[in-house]
Amino acid sequence: MGVRITPDPHTVSPSSFREDGALALDWVASYLERVGELPVLSQVEPGAIRAALPSSPPDRPEPFSAVLDDLDRVLMPGLTHSQHPRWFSYFAITGSEPSILAELLIAGLNQLGILWRTSPALQELEEVTLQWLAELLGLPPGLRGQIEDTASTSTVVALAAARSLAPDRRVVLCSEQAHSSVDKAARLLELELWKVPVDDEFRLRPDLLDLDDACAAVATIGTTGPGSVDPVPAIADACERAGTWLHVDAAYAGSAAICSELRHHFAGWERADSVVVNPHKWLGVTLDCSTLWTRRPDVLRATFGHVPEYLRADEDVGSISEYTQALGRRFRALKLWAVLRCHGRSGLQERLREHMRLAALFESWVQAELGWEVVAPRHFSLVCFRRVGSDEDNERLLERANASGEVFLSHTRLDDRFVLRLAIGSFRTTEDDVRLAWDVLKRETAAL
Ligand SMILES: *Cc1c(COP(=O)(O)O)cnc(C)c1O
Repeated sequence: MGVRITPDPHTVSPSSFREDGALALDWVASYLERVGELPVLSQVEPGAIRAALPSSPPDRPEPFSAVLDDLDRVLMPGLTHSQHPRWFSYFAITGSEPSILAELLIAGLNQLGILWRTSPALQELEEVTLQWLAELLGLPPGLRGQIEDTASTSTVVALAAARSLAPDRRVVLCSEQAHSSVDKAARLLELELWKVPVDDEFRLRPDLLDLDDACAAVATIGTTGPGSVDPVPAIADACERAGTWLHVDAAYAGSAAICSELRHHFAGWERADSVVVNPHKWLGVTLDCSTLWTRRPDVLRATFGHVPEYLRADEDVGSISEYTQALGRRFRALKLWAVLRCHGRSGLQERLREHMRLAALFESWVQAELGWEVVAPRHFSLVCFRRVGSDEDNERLLERANASGEVFLSHTRLDDRFVLRLAIGSFRTTEDDVRLAWDVLKRETAAL
């Protein structure tokens, strides 16, 4: 006689799946309605959440509702809310509603994207949505696009391809303001990273590019600190002359290319060998979704196209896994597709234009107020500013503002000064939220 398995009523019955699912969706809807009233930055001490959790896993099955209960009771205080309308730190992101719902479908389908045959829909939808997005951003036709988890991974993949194309050249160049993911990628690939100085607007100085030993140069459109834009056309000229791979990192700002009036910032990126944009940053797609395009798919395939016997298939269709490091992939294209369809070009343009307007408004308030200064030219939705005064004063101001729970801002160093950053990018941010941030900053300055 075989072993009889009693199905657990809470975890497997179809009716409880529907009921629990309805509860989970309701939980998310209520959360999004009230997230703006929660303290945006978690106020817990390190270790507090761990201490509130059982030290051992449960022995017996529990109902899903117990998980939801503990989400409220135990985890909620330890959440910093990226869905909060007054998250202004690093870069603001949005998990928009179509993407949240698509995540449920992605999980439900749980497609195993390893080969074309394990999900033709996954592969072909990914190819088509990446073509759509390239068109929306004004990238040239004919690029091959794929989705990676993060820009960090996209950059590793691009630089690995660049290295394999020129194995004798062991240097990567980027500006002093390039993202730390370039440092990590270079370290991982055992390439030497040379940081090129920037000009007074924090742009890479192309006159200082020495590409003789460089397999790749990374140009950034929208740097993480000041949001500066490297002179891509001049860098592309130099790369072309030297036979160096050009990788454009537009992880944050790339989404803004959907607005034609901002396209001039992207001049030259169509000449890049690879370009990365993060739709999970400024395009309403839930984490994670980073898009990587290349005009050298042959090089990516030569770098990553290892197909073992057990993955050999009859059909004459290359799989996405032959162009990247990971074998398996999630059905991320589904959420990008949902976002592009449910917001549409015009809906996304409207959101980004509103963010640009709000950033300009905030910038104008800072400029008009005595004792404050804007410290970097603003190209997108990021304002870099500070109190005129010491670094310590600015640091204390930031701490106090964030401790209030009303706003969450971050900082950087520019010209060796402590600088506050206000980044607008949440679809839920309104003018009132930006005004409140300014009021909090002024209030906490007065209280210092
Ligand atoms: C955010 C950002 C990255 C890193 O993005 P991840 O997806 O978190 O790896 C890289 N470059 C730039 C310019 C960024 O703004």
